Amino acid sequence: MLIDTHAHLDDERFANDLNVVLERARAAGVGHVVTIATTAPTSHTSIALARRHPALRATVGIQPNHVAEAAAGDWDEIVRLAEDPTVVAFGETGLDRYWDHTPFAQQEDYFARHLELARRHNRAVVIHCREAEADTVRMLRADYDAHGPVRAVMHSFTGDLATAQACLEMGLDISFAGMLTYKSAQNLRDVAAQVPLDRVLVETDSPYLAPVPVRGQRNEPAHVVHTAACLAKLLGVSPEALAEAATANARRLFQF
Ligand SMILES: [Zn+2]
Repeated sequence: MLIDTHAHLDDERFANDLNVVLERARAAGVGHVVTIATTAPTSHTSIALARRHPALRATVGIQPNHVAEAAAGDWDEIVRLAEDPTVVAFGETGLDRYWDHTPFAQQEDYFARHLELARRHNRAVVIHCREAEADTVRMLRADYDAHGPVRAVMHSFTGDLATAQACLEMGLDISFAGMLTYKSAQNLRDVAAQVPLDRVLVETDSPYLAPVPVRGQRNEPAHVVHTAACLAKLLGVSPEALAEAATANARRLFQF
């Protein structure tokens, strides 16, 4: 049994066959999927999907690259949706210096809002970090120093060992996506091999970045088994032991 801890099932690429996609996930041993919002409208969609499909849980939030385009009232909408029983986390939020869609100060403002909301509701935070590792650790450290640990995951982790260790010290979990399986990602595999078994999660980030051997295809939750198999090898455990640990970690983080 595995949990795909990060998928964008609201994506239009799943509009026609989500039932079949979820059937394939179950057949592959993926019992639950956390469908991740990136905007106020997709927060609504995530909740609607989780209400319709018992295997799904939802997040609500505004992804840093989408903050600039958010309408007036969108944040209030996130705050209102936070109460929904299908919601297990806030995000994805975080910081992104790769794209330049949202001024950085505004990304920081919204990252802080998500952290505050998570503390208020005792829920988890899903953190996106792209080419902004130092800033992300700085903000997490300030939050940690002021308020103590928050339940959070560094999603689709691609940072270095120092970043991973800083996050682990603050109590965060580290989630690996399909990139872990790419031939060019030896540095990332070296980092993953150092993360304790009781702190790892796996995800697909569907529909993006499918793992080897399905690289290039539309990604879907069933494919998380390939990333999990790769991570099991790196950590020197059986796929079964990895699945058991990663599922327990995800349940601790998201509390379901
Ligand atoms: Zn994502």
